[in-house]
Amino acid sequence: MVKERCTSADCRLCEFLDSKPELETSFNREPKQSVKCGFGKKGVCCRLCSNGPCRITPKSPRGVCGADADTIVARNFLRNVAAGAACYLHVVENTANNLREAGLGNYATELKGLEMLDELAELFDVEAEDVNEKAVQVAEKVLADLYKPRYKKMELVEKLAYSPRLKKWKELDIIPGGAKSEVFDALVKTSTNLSSDPVDMLMHVLNLGISTGLYGLHMTNLLNDVMLGEPEITQDKVGFKVVDEDYINIVVTGHQHTMIAHLQDALITEEATKMAQDVGAKGFKIVGSTCVGQDLQLRGAHYKDVFAGHAGNNYTSEALLATGGIDLVISEFNCTIPGLELVAEKYQVKMIAIDDVAKKTTAEMLKFDPAKAPEITDKLIKAAVESYQNRRSKIEIDIPKDHGYDDVVTGVSEKSLRKFLGGNYKALIDLIASGKIKGVAAVVGCSNLTAKGHDVFSVGLTKELIKRDILVLSAGCTTGGLENCGLVSPSAAKLAGDNLREVCEELGIPPVLNFGPCLSIGRVEEVAVELAKALDVDLPQLPAVLSAPQWLEEQALADGAFGLALGLPLHLALPPFVTGSEIIVDTLTKNLPEITGGQLIIDTEIESAADKLEEIILDRRSGLGL
Ligand code: SF4
Ligand code: SF4
Repeated sequence: MVKERCTSADCRLCEFLDSKPELETSFNREPKQSVKCGFGKKGVCCRLCSNGPCRITPKSPRGVCGADADTIVARNFLRNVAAGAACYLHVVENTANNLREAGLGNYATELKGLEMLDELAELFDVEAEDVNEKAVQVAEKVLADLYKPRYKKMELVEKLAYSPRLKKWKELDIIPGGAKSEVFDALVKTSTNLSSDPVDMLMHVLNLGISTGLYGLHMTNLLNDVMLGEPEITQDKVGFKVVDEDYINIVVTGHQHTMIAHLQDALITEEATKMAQDVGAKGFKIVGSTCVGQDLQLRGAHYKDVFAGHAGNNYTSEALLATGGIDLVISEFNCTIPGLELVAEKYQVKMIAIDDVAKKTTAEMLKFDPAKAPEITDKLIKAAVESYQNRRSKIEIDIPKDHGYDDVVTGVSEKSLRKFLGGNYKALIDLIASGKIKGVAAVVGCSNLTAKGHDVFSVGLTKELIKRDILVLSAGCTTGGLENCGLVSPSAAKLAGDNLREVCEELGIPPVLNFGPCLSIGRVEEVAVELAKALDVDLPQLPAVLSAPQWLEEQALADGAFGLALGLPLHLALPPFVTGSEIIVDTLTKNLPEITGGQLIIDTEIESAADKLEEIILDRRSGLGL
């Protein structure tokens, strides 16, 4: 009997799940968690002290200490955003450290993006001639900024930010001091009986958004480009079809791709291939899942031999293990959902964590240290071989080879797109000016199971937008869903409005441009900056909108805070847990246009959300005289 489960926009995935009634995944658990706590949902529950938990109602509008709904909601919200910012800052810190160690000769990995290293060196006024010395100095500039105290402003913000935005942020006094210190003081500020000022806390949210966006997203991308190679536009396979049972298959979950730089290269050496062949496999493959898969796909031109293709997003990962074709899961950051452990146990998949922030209960801990990369790689390869040997004779392999697509367009970045357009953004601006492309919508972020189901809102909204001749740029697990539903293949042009369809068919591109992992939300925002620069306007004047319809986690809230600080309209299909505070809701949805130019739009329905986003684009077009 098929169990009650959450639905997905990916019908073949639903069929696969239904073919395994004994398998428990997030899809089965979601209906059992459908009754939500109203206090938690509105953000009016406080557990900061032993007098609590206090819950705000019309009859009891203040907690025992006197905190009202606005204070409680603001504290909870700032804590959420601080946690999200901390996650991305952890990623950029480790990435910069790995680059530094590589430059010092302690991390045995080749730097694949020397052009980007030169660009960063120039931007940061690094004068070293030697490549390694240049890498060390660039990395140290980033680390120095991250470690500044709160009373010293981050220096690179001046170099990274678009000048009209920088001016605005200075006016608002939201330029961050040292990013980690800002997170630290957000926790202090929101602790028991400290700040009670919701507006001050919201300003702190924007401040954290800036360091999340410029460092956690943008800078991580650029440092990854140096270490792992820059994206190049190409086509690739996606879906479960990428899993080849003849190989020893490894899934990596997380966002810290530089940690697997050594492993990626080692997996395709003769020595490793021989180890695989000795146990009956053809070799090793990394199967893409979550943002690591999206990033490997983005940089696929550099990883043709080791990368199998991207199988799917965060909530596809449990089903991916249930194909039986995966032998090892390496976790290094988030999007390693706890439910994976149950499925891994059932399918006898070995789990290893290489960063303790992603330590799963059933995983072995093998902490990554760049200086010990060869030793760690050796252990990981041996563990994969051993797991393959132990499990393959006992586990049924059931890979739906008709799941996915063969021709997803990938490798789009702010630079590769510019190159594709002929060296500048004029071609895109001309298409926007002529009305062939009405505007640009970034549909980004996570996937969740609650905004109408897995990828249902993201896919539905994207279809609505392209139908209205709005070009969609996507990044994050959203992209994984859009890819597996065919929207990132050139044939999706037929779903677009006549004008956009003509453009896509002429250029051989899909109406959704795939920027890869959630970190690439920073790249998408760079495209907006490039367009604004070319038009000599500030970001709030652009016919460009942002939607994270199926946002999931605290990191997404920090990303969203960056979008709002940039002055972009941001749509969410589910409100953050702030609706219990009138001040917070009004500030975000009504007053923000006067503050940063940004605006939060909550709309839980696909068509009306598309109407609102289109209306903003049309309004901006007329503002520009288009
Ligand atoms: S959100 Fe707050 S009020 Fe609701 S169940 Fe959790 S602790 Fe209790
Ligand atoms: S800090 Fe105030 S609102 Fe929060 S639990 Fe304690 S008494 Fe209640």
